[in-house]
Amino acid sequence: MSEELFKKVVSHAKEYGFVFPSSEIYDGLGAVYDYGQNGAELKNNLRTYWWKSMVQMHENIVGIDAAIFMHPQVWKASGHIDGFSDPMIDNKDSKKRYRADQLLEDKILRYEKDGKTNKAQELQAALDKAMTENDLPALKELIIAHEIACPISGTRNWTDVRQFNLMFSTEMGAMADGADKVYLRPETAQGIFVNFLNVQKTGRMKIPFGIAQTGKAFRNEIIARQFIMRMREFEQMEMQFFIRPGTQKEWYAHWKEARIKWHEKLGFGKEMYRFHDHVKLAHYADAAVDIEFAFPFGFKELEGIHSRTDFDLRNHQELSGKKMQYFDNDIDEATGKPFGNYIPYVIETSIGLDRLFLATLCACYKEEEVGDGDKKDTRVVLSLPPQLAPYKVAVFPLTKKDGLPEKAEQIMNELKADYTCFYEEKDAIGKRYRRQDALGTPFCITVDHDTLQDQTVTIRYRDTMQQERIPVNKISEIIAAETAWKRLL
Ligand code: ATP
Repeated sequence: MSEELFKKVVSHAKEYGFVFPSSEIYDGLGAVYDYGQNGAELKNNLRTYWWKSMVQMHENIVGIDAAIFMHPQVWKASGHIDGFSDPMIDNKDSKKRYRADQLLEDKILRYEKDGKTNKAQELQAALDKAMTENDLPALKELIIAHEIACPISGTRNWTDVRQFNLMFSTEMGAMADGADKVYLRPETAQGIFVNFLNVQKTGRMKIPFGIAQTGKAFRNEIIARQFIMRMREFEQMEMQFFIRPGTQKEWYAHWKEARIKWHEKLGFGKEMYRFHDHVKLAHYADAAVDIEFAFPFGFKELEGIHSRTDFDLRNHQELSGKKMQYFDNDIDEATGKPFGNYIPYVIETSIGLDRLFLATLCACYKEEEVGDGDKKDTRVVLSLPPQLAPYKVAVFPLTKKDGLPEKAEQIMNELKADYTCFYEEKDAIGKRYRRQDALGTPFCITVDHDTLQDQTVTIRYRDTMQQERIPVNKISEIIAAETAWKRLL
């Protein structure tokens, strides 16, 4: 059933202008997607929701927009040149490449599905051990021992497991000989770290404080699958929260709690989320947890919360030779003196905008039985929170004549500076309603002959499908109340 839902969401996304494969006329480009006219609006609204709650709602968090290209030394300091890799294995017959850990994860899921819980647990423990110890031969042994075959060739003719760096590189400068290798950033976080002092000084920020940013990140993922779940070009929304060393446990707990609450406010159901503590910590972290979402293909990471210690700032200080320190003149009760100079510790919250987009589509896509008897029908509705809907309101003249289109346009012109509006005069009203349901538009306004006489319209609500007669000058008030960001923050 779930896989069926996923297929429906993917085709809905295409059919209704949310997401298209990149360069589709050339048969697409692996794990790269374009957002269409409705997808771009939904994505902007999700980004706005994040930005408002992280930046606008916190006096001690500010937002920046750093460049995608950074000095190559950044990636040396961050550990990405040496350590940002996945263990991969090739099947010699199909020539297909896989992530060794994911082949094993899939096997664990299969064991669980087949009720072989002990086997699943055993394999999970062995996988965790091999990943923690970076033991590549052990990963291969597990793949052999558990008789994992290539899904394409069906054979178990595997190469050794090797590490594969996930960063894309390119050359900077017009001349090939004067060119320098630069990387497309694999995370947005480093743009925040290298600007830590710029922001702290110019913003007169006092610890604890945060710097947020949203933007593109690039990873040469070996296996790309599940639509926009794992892409090679994607968007992250990250916030680094700078704190006094020694306070990381409490701030980690704070952000864990704050972030899950943020998700829950979207109203998709608390049971759709769970925490998953990391066993294998990334090279920079002393604690890490994922917020996982119940995607149709299972619980998968949506957001990561990491206690990054002073790893990044310290390495940048060492490699750049520039001090990355903060002078804290608050009094330390233990010594009676100011805390003085230190390199701050960092708690990071990092969420993928595309994964949030996918989670939202999956949670909001509904097929409902409507009407009875002869009129029984199914409607597809995207029950998006009104703040996120690509269009807040659709305006329809009942017919194309008698001055109704002009009146409808006049109403729309009053609304469109404040709300995204959709105008349509083709097809029967029922059909137009359905189309808006499929886009998630919370309100439809129909202008009829009475409108010309008494300045009233019919408003139709997406979720209840109820219709009501209201004065034209009430429309804006109703939309404003329902789409107010305050309700989500
Ligand atoms: P995964 O284990 O799924 O590869 P990760 O642990 O490498 O993810 P992080 O480095 O913690 O991910 O990145 C933070 C967030 O960025 C993730 O929670 C996810 O939402 C998003 N993200 C990471 N890689 C991708 C990708 N290839 N495509 C889309 N979103 C991604």
